Amino acid sequence: MLSNIRVVLVGTTHPGNIGSTARAMKTMGLSTLYLAEPKVEPDGHSIALAAGASDILKHAVTVDSLAEAIADCSLVIATSARSRTLDWPMLEPRQAGEKLVASALNGPVAIVFGRESNGLSNEELQKCNYHVAIPANPEYSSLNLAQAVQIICYEARVAHLNQTPSEEEVLEYPLAKEQENFFTHLEKTLLSTGFIVRQHPGQVMIKLRRLFSRARIESQEMNILRGILTSIDKKVGLADKGSIRSQDDDNTVVKKEE
Ligand code: SAH
Repeated sequence: MLSNIRVVLVGTTHPGNIGSTARAMKTMGLSTLYLAEPKVEPDGHSIALAAGASDILKHAVTVDSLAEAIADCSLVIATSARSRTLDWPMLEPRQAGEKLVASALNGPVAIVFGRESNGLSNEELQKCNYHVAIPANPEYSSLNLAQAVQIICYEARVAHLNQTPSEEEVLEYPLAKEQENFFTHLEKTLLSTGFIVRQHPGQVMIKLRRLFSRARIESQEMNILRGILTSIDKKVGLADKGSIRSQDDDNTVVKKEE
């Protein structure tokens, strides 16, 4: 189960932090590490700090972007030292551990950590379902990256040890890539109806992302919404142009239900 919980480090600059992350993960029973656009590759320093956890480094997956690292995840939680800058759905570390463990029963889930210098960008934070801030000293709240990883992995372990069946286990949630396809579709439809003006898009899409993150919509509900959008597209003549579904949008949400 814990192997379905993916630790994603974005833009890491210190090889030592990658090694210490591997050690933090292994002590808590996690094993899946993704490096999204890392500034450095794991090196001898990483291996030294990983101690006996260099197997995690060896199997770490390097990808070009956060989007790629989380595409097949049904739950994505971002960590941030700055709480509430974006007014996104927030979790306590304990709740984050519980949600990760419960959703990991259904497939991959991710916990995302930012750059040592400036954390995650707003755009990256908006790709995640929830944010978690470790309640540190408000006057000095920025933990070392690997120490933040340790705390969240510990919470996942505690939740794993206490696991009781929850509602989350039986519900199916859309994967991050399916959510992105939905937002792309929504934006295109809203552009075609004139609700969003291309030259002045404003904050509408960000507010809508936040709304759907808060609602934590299920696969079936996302299907209904896609159907509603398609019916609007037909009315405004957009569907005929074949421009709605992106190439990689294989409609897996629909397939899953059958
Ligand atoms: N100066 C940066 C902090 C980066 S610390 C900033 O302002 O965002 C590197 C990473 O460690 C963060 O992106 C986050 O993933 C994690 N982290 C550090 N302190 C944290 C805290 N108090 N709560 C949650 N995550 C934290």
